Amino acid sequence: MRNLLRLALLFSPTLALLVGGGWYVAAHLGDELPPDAVRPGGRLVVVVVFDQMRGDYLRRWPGLFDEDGFEQVKREGVWYSNARLPYACTSTGPGHASIGTGAPPSVHGVVENKWYDRRTGQEVYCASDAAARRVPEVKMPSKEPASLSPARLLVPGVAAHLKAVEKDARVFSLSLKDRAAVLMAGQCQDAGVYCFDSAVGKFHTSSHYRADLPDWVAAFNKSRDSSPADVWFHRRWDRLLHSEKYVGRDDCEAEGRGVNGMGQTFPHPLKGKLENPAKGFYDAVETSPFGNELLWDFARACLAAEQLGRRGTKDLLYLSFSSNDLVGHAWGPDSHEAQDITARSDRLLAEMIRHLGETVGRANYTLVLTADHGVCPLPELTPGAERFEPAAELADLGKALDETFGPLGDKPGAAGLWVKKVNYPDVYLNDSLLAAEGKSRADVERYAAEWIGNRPHMPAAFPRSVLAGPPLADPLARRVQLGWHPDGSGDVVTVHKPYLLTGKNTGGYSVAGHGTPHDYDTHVPLLAFGAGVPKLGERPEPTSSLVVAAIVCRALGIDPPTEAKEPLPAGWGK
Ligand SMILES: [Zn+2]
Repeated sequence: MRNLLRLALLFSPTLALLVGGGWYVAAHLGDELPPDAVRPGGRLVVVVVFDQMRGDYLRRWPGLFDEDGFEQVKREGVWYSNARLPYACTSTGPGHASIGTGAPPSVHGVVENKWYDRRTGQEVYCASDAAARRVPEVKMPSKEPASLSPARLLVPGVAAHLKAVEKDARVFSLSLKDRAAVLMAGQCQDAGVYCFDSAVGKFHTSSHYRADLPDWVAAFNKSRDSSPADVWFHRRWDRLLHSEKYVGRDDCEAEGRGVNGMGQTFPHPLKGKLENPAKGFYDAVETSPFGNELLWDFARACLAAEQLGRRGTKDLLYLSFSSNDLVGHAWGPDSHEAQDITARSDRLLAEMIRHLGETVGRANYTLVLTADHGVCPLPELTPGAERFEPAAELADLGKALDETFGPLGDKPGAAGLWVKKVNYPDVYLNDSLLAAEGKSRADVERYAAEWIGNRPHMPAAFPRSVLAGPPLADPLARRVQLGWHPDGSGDVVTVHKPYLLTGKNTGGYSVAGHGTPHDYDTHVPLLAFGAGVPKLGERPEPTSSLVVAAIVCRALGIDPPTEAKEPLPAGWGK
């Protein structure tokens, strides 16, 4: 029957548009068209970010993947297997800001999760805003910022651009991590931006976006006694697959122990010593694959309540799954835990494809998948690698500057005054004092960079004068430059040797890390699938992760915003 229908439709394009769900027909015929003849995308674009999922995971653990998750996307869509973040500051904030805008940190200004603000002398958080308040308001001692907005993001982003050209479009940005949700939505004030608070076990937003929670969010928060996460209170996290499917050992000495007594090896209990669900348990949910399931439950509630992709307009949904990052930090990227959450992410993706196919229709949505950054293997498992203390390495910088430029101030022992702040890998010099003392800031920066670049663990450092100049030819230097912004970044930016991590391994919730310009931190997955996506299969050519914005805009049928300069890769047609 379907073949007959197809045959009839082939000869009657008007009939194709008249048959219920014209897009369905068009896209199914499109399956058989050459890649350069694809049609513009459907009515819903879903951007899925697996936080810290490294680009090589999709190849190095073939035993973990089923036929209908990543493999289906690779088969029926396009997989850029050599996609790299083009910038050095490979952290969550810059990652999500770059996904949401298509611009590098040198343009959008989010240069780290936290940076030093020269004007106020304070450390600032990438997604905080003192002018906003938490919605709903709760009284609690919390280290997290109570108020959120994209005030520190300097460009509008794709979502704001979509709303400007299509006012009925709906935009949602959901994540357990607040900075991920806020920065993906960019400066789109109409966006529904929700994140999870492990202090209370509920989703919340900020007054920057709206004054109250919509009914569906309030209902979701109330779906269990104290939190929608309570369903996992008595659960333990065990392997999804037979232990033989996992590479390496589970009982590796260098791994951490998670949070709330989760422990080093499977199975991991979540409730620890708690009698009832509370913060420690919610932290454990976040640090397990159940955190991703929680976000997907929340996303399903959003899709249903807001009728995304089903209202005859263009909608955009950003989903960032934070638990992959927390698990990778706790047990390291080679652990059975990291492998298990990758396998479960694959099943989650299959479930997303199934759900969107059933509710929105395969021909009406496009899925774009990527990560905000990769991760460094545990130094304990890498021959020749080690951990080091940057503060110790930089301790004598002031003394070296004293010797070269003469002492600062008239007090002996004032060498420490040269440096205002080290927010590794950024070094901020004391520019007001340099000016008062008549020292040449450019000369001091250049010398400091040269000195730092000769430390045992630091083969390179770049001064402001170089980073603020024309595009650098050296690939590593260029990555540092694309991660550098004159307002938030340091006067000198340091790069340490590959495979090193900073700080000690204390066996806690974070024994692994990321944030360098090295390949393990910049290599991310990049795949697209669904309406309007050419069936190109694996594309191994080097590809900038910033093309995500161009792909999203193509699928939405809009031109990219001006700050998104990375063009669509070959094979997408004109
Ligand atoms: Zn991380």
